[in-house]
Amino acid sequence: KSFRDLGIVDSLCEACERLGYKRPTPIQEQSIPLALQDRDIIGIAETGSGKTAAFALPILQALLDKPQPLFALVLAPTRELAAQIAQAFEALGSLISLRCALILGGLDMVQQAIALGKKPHVVVATPGRLLDHLEKTKGFSLRNLRYLVMDEADRLLDMDFGPILEKILKFLPRERRTFLFSATMSSKVESLQRASLRDPLKVTI
Ligand code: AMP
Repeated sequence: KSFRDLGIVDSLCEACERLGYKRPTPIQEQSIPLALQDRDIIGIAETGSGKTAAFALPILQALLDKPQPLFALVLAPTRELAAQIAQAFEALGSLISLRCALILGGLDMVQQAIALGKKPHVVVATPGRLLDHLEKTKGFSLRNLRYLVMDEADRLLDMDFGPILEKILKFLPRERRTFLFSATMSSKVESLQRASLRDPLKVTI
């Protein structure tokens, strides 16, 4: 199967080709059609499986359909992972003038507030700093958010981001899609799933 067979539009297929993605990986093949059907998804997959494009492509496709600022939020446990995810969004979105902001702990709040003020389509963040901005940055709101991704949810919870995630969820609209990716399933991941996803489909590779 090709990305086109999975329902991905030409401009995004072309971005995949330019990145040397010849065909979808198993996690992409399973989750992209479900995500395009507007379902919440739990993906059990490791880094290296192609999970980033598995959630980025459907989000970018939905964004093309109804462009809007602050369309998607991706939360990741570490600065390194968040930076990789932002890079993947920028590469896959390079043909559709995507604006993406990277919001990491330990860096300047004011510069980040300016970046958020430019109304990026996608925000990729570590949880603590994102919550800081939701609580303190004037004019920044995610109340029109359409997509939430929690990547490496098992690590997010192992690093005790659970209470911060709970607080972030209170700032987000209920009417949204949510994708949760995790290398493993645990009772903590299950309770996060119950708190944040609606009637999800599970994809395991
Ligand atoms: P990830 O699991 O999202 O961290 O992706 C692992 C690596 O696989 C990254 O370097 C991606 O650029 C690459 N990748 C993702 N999807 C594909 C694909 N369909 N074909 C080839 N490489 C891919």
